[in-house]
Order: sequence, then structure tokens, then C-alpha cells
Amino acid sequence: MSRRRRVVLVPAPFQGHITPMLQLGSILESSGFSIVVAHSEYNAPDPLNHSGFMFLPLPDNVADCDKTFMNMMNVLDTININCKLPFQDYLAQLMENVEVDGEVVCIVFDTIMTFVNDVANSLQLPTIVMRPFSSAYSRAHEYLMDLRSENCLPLPECQMGETVPNFHPFKFKDMPLLLTNEIPDRLFEFLKKSHDIGSSCAIIWNTMDEIEHHHLSLVQKDFQVPIFSIGPFHKMAPTSKTSLIEEDNNCIEWLDKQAPNSVLYVSLGSITSMDEKELMETAWGLIGSEQPFLWVIRDKSVNGAKFNSQLPDGFDEIIGNRGCIVKWAPQKKVLQHSAVGGFWSHCGWNSTLESISEGVPMICRPDFSDQRINTRYVTDVWNVGWEMEGPVDRESVEKIVTKLMVDVEGKDMRKKAVDMKHKFQDSMKEGGSSFLCLNELTEFISTLSG
Ligand code: UDP
Repeated sequence: MSRRRRVVLVPAPFQGHITPMLQLGSILESSGFSIVVAHSEYNAPDPLNHSGFMFLPLPDNVADCDKTFMNMMNVLDTININCKLPFQDYLAQLMENVEVDGEVVCIVFDTIMTFVNDVANSLQLPTIVMRPFSSAYSRAHEYLMDLRSENCLPLPECQMGETVPNFHPFKFKDMPLLLTNEIPDRLFEFLKKSHDIGSSCAIIWNTMDEIEHHHLSLVQKDFQVPIFSIGPFHKMAPTSKTSLIEEDNNCIEWLDKQAPNSVLYVSLGSITSMDEKELMETAWGLIGSEQPFLWVIRDKSVNGAKFNSQLPDGFDEIIGNRGCIVKWAPQKKVLQHSAVGGFWSHCGWNSTLESISEGVPMICRPDFSDQRINTRYVTDVWNVGWEMEGPVDRESVEKIVTKLMVDVEGKDMRKKAVDMKHKFQDSMKEGGSSFLCLNELTEFISTLSG
């Protein structure tokens, strides 16, 4: 009997990172590998959702840390320091029990879990980096680091609207961190470390050639290792359950009662928040648009307050059955629902892929990280959405929602989004780029086993 071949996955403890890693685990499991997930205790995935995986919680000592957005860098540093030794011990044990547990063929780690390569090197295990964002974002990091080494930062305000040379159509204001006044050295060090693949022998990317051919071919030149772009992971592993927050499925019943393409889905992902004024203006704008909407308002996402406590007085009565508000939605199911005709999104990479792969056009309201790069893709490259720019006021909200959900322009946009959906489908079909890359990846990992 052949021995089991184990792949050890190390996700980063944020929803937008855990999701693609667990999906990748399901993809590799279907390709015949046994999956071990070594994860921090903070934001631990639910083992019940993946009964075939083995889960190794790594003590991280961040239970008492401040987990607000401003302190996330510290939390991540602490996790990278504290998880290292327990991970090394666990792996050493796994490797001792080859006859029982199967052979560990490689470790696949999220690009920001920077402790992994040291551990793997000391145990002589091969590693593969998993990148949960676009290849264009990776190139944006490189530009940013170049600007810094050439002492060009901070850039003058007037340059922000210009296109970055050799990086069309991305503008300086789309680049990560450039809108921040002062970028701490520490953050740069971290970016540099997480961008560098060290001794890793390959990169797995949640993207695909059909939508990012140009930038993928350029990153292939930058990193002299095989790159496997096998996205969109969520479509390659459709049953993988990955939510850290309980999904409110009642909204699906509500969607069942709505007309096709009539509902605007509004969600800003797992980290981005709104201030009270923006919430109010969005609420009044949605009322003014007279369109049905499904709105995710996470607990504490508005000034740390409870769920929807800060909505305008009498909001429920005004919207009646025309709106549905939840703390957390089963987003992939929502975007697949025939009633959903548009997505107001912060443009996290997962949300962007999930929307476009269902042919749902977008209203983009990016905030930080890769969200502006993704927005530029949506608005200027794939032409499947508009950006909501400037301050959020009720008139602009009403206008852009009406444009997408009611006007002829919105209907055209929906057609373009459906064309993009077909590109996604093509990539996964037999002979498509993601299909072929997955076969190559499976073979590649098999060659790593001794
Ligand atoms: N998500 C969800 N329900 C919600 C909001 C978000 O399931 O109500 C999921 C969404 O499907 C996506 C992930 O959370 O897979 C968010 O990842 P993304 O990269 O879009 O943004 P981030 O949260 O990292 O900013």
C-alpha cells in the first residue's frame, strides 16, 4: 500500500487569508494529498468544517493583545515569533511517525507567515508560498520598495493621480500605503520579508492567466521558480466552508422572494469599517435609490458599536421588506443567487473574484491594502464596475446605485460581467489555464516526495 503524502498548510489568521488556504487544502485533498493545517490559536478555523484535515493549533500568546486594526502589525509579529518553536516541534513529531502519519512532502504557507521558511530549512522540508492576492499587487509592492530605496517617498500629492510608469493603468494613489502620511520602517521590513520567497521552491497564486496574463508573466520573470495560478480557488473547491463568523442563512430566504438581478449586495469584508456618518449617508442613499438591498453590517464595524445600533431612527419601518440587514452573510451563496444584480464592495481580492466569477458587476469602495489595485482592475481593465469616489453622501450613493441597478449603463455593465464569468469558467474547464496548472502542481508536489 502506498504511503499517504501529507501537505502541511500554514494559513495567516485573517478571514481573507484563511479562506483561500482552506480552499487550497480542499483542492489538494481532491488531488490525493492528506492535509494538515497548522494554524495560530487566534482566528482558528473550525475543524468540523473539514473532517478529512488534521488540525494543529499553534500556541500564539496573543489572546490578551489589542486586536484593533491599528495594532494588527504587532499581533502578526507576535504570532510569527511565538508559533515558530511549537511548529518546529509538531513537524518533527510528524516526520518521526512516517509509517503511521504518512510522509510530509512539503509545507505551503501564506506569504505573511514569515516564520515558516526558517523552520522548514532546519528540517530540510521544501516550502511553497501561497499568495492570496493578485499578481499586480505583488508588482505594486516591488514598485513601492523601489520608490523607497530611491528616496522618493513621500510622493507629492499632485503625483497621486498619475499613472505609474510601466504599470498602466495603475495610478500612484492605487499603490499600497502611498496615501499614508508616514510609512513606518518596520512595515517596510515586514513587506520586504513577506515579498521575498526565500528558499521556497514554487508559488501558488489565487489568480489565473485569463484575467492577469500580463502581470503573471512579469512576476514569473521576477521569481525564478514555478508559479501555479490555479484560481479562483473558491470555484475549484466549491464545498469548502471557511467562515470564521456564523453565517446568517435567513437572507437566502429573503433573496428567494426578490426579482432576478434586482438586489444590491453591500458588504465591506471582514476588516474594513465605516464611520457613523458614512453609515448614515449610505443608509439614506439606499433608501433614496428605492432598490432592494442586502447589507452586511458586522458587529463593531461602525465605531465599535453593536451591529446595526447606529442606523437612522425608524430605518426598519422605512425600508420594510425592501432591505435585509445581517451581521455576516453566506457571501458565495449570495453572489450566486439570481436575485443579486450588483455588489457594493471594498474590493478585497476574495470578494472581487467571488463577484466576477458569478457575473455580478460592482460598485467599488476601496480602503487599504490591495483594494485600490483590485478596484482599478474592476473599473479600468475588466470594465465590470464603477468606483464610488470622494466622500460618501446620500446623493452620490443614490446616483451610483441607480446607475448600476436601474440605468441602461448598469445593464451593459452586467453583460460585461457575464462575459468575465465565462472567462473564469474557461480557465477551469479541461484544457483551461487553471485546470492545466493544477495538474502541473499535483505533479510538482509529487516530485517533492522522497
Ligand atoms: N464574507 C462572507 N460573509 C460576509 C462578508 C464576507 O462570507 O458577510 C467572506 C467573503 O466571501 C470573502 C471573505 O469573507 O471570501 C473576505 O475576503 P476579502 O479578501 O474579500 O476581504 P477582507 O475581509 O480580507 O478584507
